[in-house]
Amino acid sequence: MKIKDLLERPERSKISLEFFPPKDRALWPKFFDTVQRLRGLDPLFASVTYGAGGSTQAATLEIVTTLKRDFALEPMAHLTCVGASAQILRSFLDDLDRAEVANVMALRGDPPQGETAFTPSDDGFQHASDLVRFIAAEYPDMGVGVAGYPEGHPEAVGLKEDLDFLKMKLELGGDFAVTQLFFDNDIYWKFVQRTREAGITKPILPGIMPIFSLKFIQRITSMCGATLPAAFLRDLEQADARGGDAAVQEVGMAHAAAQIQDLLDNGAPGVHLYTMNRSDGCLRIMEQVRR
Ligand SMILES: Cc1cc2nc3c(=O)[nH]c(=O)nc-3n(C[C@H](O)[C@H](O)[C@H](O)COP(=O)(O)OP(=O)(O)OC[C@H]3O[C@@H](n4cnc5c(N)ncnc54)[C@H](O)[C@@H]3O)c2cc1C
Repeated sequence: MKIKDLLERPERSKISLEFFPPKDRALWPKFFDTVQRLRGLDPLFASVTYGAGGSTQAATLEIVTTLKRDFALEPMAHLTCVGASAQILRSFLDDLDRAEVANVMALRGDPPQGETAFTPSDDGFQHASDLVRFIAAEYPDMGVGVAGYPEGHPEAVGLKEDLDFLKMKLELGGDFAVTQLFFDNDIYWKFVQRTREAGITKPILPGIMPIFSLKFIQRITSMCGATLPAAFLRDLEQADARGGDAAVQEVGMAHAAAQIQDLLDNGAPGVHLYTMNRSDGCLRIMEQVRR
């Protein structure tokens, strides 16, 4: 079922989950064990990221197929413009169709490791909007999610331009947006307000990333442009000095739980949890949230 239709059912879970394909095939049993444990949260849908290389793309396909077939989850496959020809895209989307996977997250993707700028393929898939247009024209039955950036995409000319492109993606066929991670809910609420003022009416799902390691989150935020609020960063640094990752995780989980609670209490259309493939931490976070 299309996620946009699921989002209209008030009785359904408001939590969705994001996984990434494990690098090594030997880790798949452990990965599916994680999925099984998190399935207990009754997620509205489960998305699976898409890497820059061919083998990780095949893994995305196989995992979403398995989530649908063996776990009765509503999966969403991420898909990017990196190295994308019309033929490769059709092959991937046909496979999704056959597996009855009804949703795809249309992204531009980041340049492969070692490259600084994004280079479009010969078929001209340069922006996520090109992918959305292609999917809407050739696979009209496919539900489409797109990415939104509450603090602006790092390459954006400006916040207004970035919002215009989000609007464009949603007008071309995107059903909803999932946001980049953020750690201050005010940033999300202000972003939603700006989208509404810009005439966007579709759901904007907040993306929440729990912090399990200070070094890791500092690397991620420096790449994606999300802000770690000063007071929160200080708490994380103090925890790190006191007890390393274990102490950082306690602070990070409490913060994520508080963010999720506030988002749900104040009417966010859902919450998309970047699980980092960590069942224990995510279950502990969700134990603290009244749903
Ligand atoms: C929820 C979420 C999930 C993600 N999952 C993955 C994943 O699975 N795999 C992966 O590789 N990456 C993933 N990413 C990262 C994403 O690929 C990067 O952030 C990428 O740099 C931009 O992707 P986009 O789809 O937002 O691109 P776009 O919407 O194309 O935007 C990219 C930049 O170009 C600008 N722009 C957009 N359209 C135009 C236009 N028509 N003309 C001029 N400028 C334009 C925008 O302002 C922005 O600065 C994810 C990001 C998010 C938020």
